[in-house]
Amino acid sequence: MSSQSKSNDPQSNIPAYGFETLAVHAGARPDPTTGARSTPIFQSNAFVFHDAEHAAELFNLQTFGFIYSRLTNPTVSVLEERVCALENGRGAVACATGHAAQFLLAATLLETGDEFIASKNLYGGSITQFGVSFAKLGWTCNFVDMTNADELRAAMNDKIKFIFCEVLANPGGVVLDLEELAAIAKEWGVPLVVDNTLASPYLCRPFDWGADIVVHSTTKYIGGHGTSVGGMIIDSGAFDWEKHSDRFPMLNQPDPSYHGAVWTEAVKPMGPVAYIVKARVTLLRDLGAATSPFNSFMFLQGLETLPLRMREHCRNAQLVAEFLEAHPAVTRVIYPGMQSGENRKRADTHLSGGYGGLVGFEMTGGIEAGKAFIDNLELIYHVANIGDARTLAIHPASTTHQQLSREDQE
Ligand code: PLP
Repeated sequence: MSSQSKSNDPQSNIPAYGFETLAVHAGARPDPTTGARSTPIFQSNAFVFHDAEHAAELFNLQTFGFIYSRLTNPTVSVLEERVCALENGRGAVACATGHAAQFLLAATLLETGDEFIASKNLYGGSITQFGVSFAKLGWTCNFVDMTNADELRAAMNDKIKFIFCEVLANPGGVVLDLEELAAIAKEWGVPLVVDNTLASPYLCRPFDWGADIVVHSTTKYIGGHGTSVGGMIIDSGAFDWEKHSDRFPMLNQPDPSYHGAVWTEAVKPMGPVAYIVKARVTLLRDLGAATSPFNSFMFLQGLETLPLRMREHCRNAQLVAEFLEAHPAVTRVIYPGMQSGENRKRADTHLSGGYGGLVGFEMTGGIEAGKAFIDNLELIYHVANIGDARTLAIHPASTTHQQLSREDQE
């Protein structure tokens, strides 16, 4: 089970190897029956138990193995182990989409009436998910400008269960000081959760800066070819849930949904994986947003070239940004690589290897000029996606970020 991915199996999670090697090998080993070297697509709903005792042990979390593909699947497990290794985490759970991962992340930590704080600079869909759909479940999200530590400190209170941000924001390119945010999270005894979709673990590993949990939309750079939607939660294992037991009863008190398991005690022999095990065996089980073996196979293919693609994305984006900066019809280019102020400083500290593949720009001539630009593209596709091998373009305010208020769009 990939919730414990720091395996001692030397072929499994190879922590001594570099990023490029892990991107190709981590989590995978030749199929013991056929010798297949590429990870097979295990398109099976269920897995045969050895005997009655084995089945009971699996359900009791006394042994690792596969039961049913809503919970675990061998192809999905390889993907989980690989992303977990690239992020240097302790355990991971793959989900149907990035939004499903965010829902699972929150449902594992929030009860009705609880709160969390999110950065104002988020993908528009996340702002709507957190601000509107989560509110219907009694979960309150307070959005703050996380480039301003005082604003974050002032927003903290005893109901807050986690702090959420994108380290490199879609689409504003705002980079956050994860070290500063992690220090504030620590002061308050709450985990810092980072959406690392835009940076990918190639440009930033949030756990190195003190973050506790990472989420991904694997739909984007991890897949890299625009063929599959998926998401992932990765747990660093570093957050001390027992120390903050009053704030996190869901991990420290008997869980009625799993015959009274107290997660911080029940999984202690497996290491610090209480959060990620609970996320899988109760919330993934109950919410059902599992990812498919086929999509996981596609993500594994994507991961093998993640370092190569990220290097080229960054190089190409810088060239595009420089071209736009010199263009008379362009009034503003939004790309950390073209900036010189605080955002550039944060980017230079927290991102290594480039500034990402997303470039924004504003044009003279307003919305009509924007529409004409979009309608005259050749070889650049007008779609609501990022992180494809093809070049893509979109006007966020009328599409991905349309449902936001004018103020939030600004
Ligand atoms: N996080 C970021 C930064 C995104 O850009 C997106 C989608 O664009 C998501 C999360 C949501 O991911 P998905 O579309 O896989 O649900």
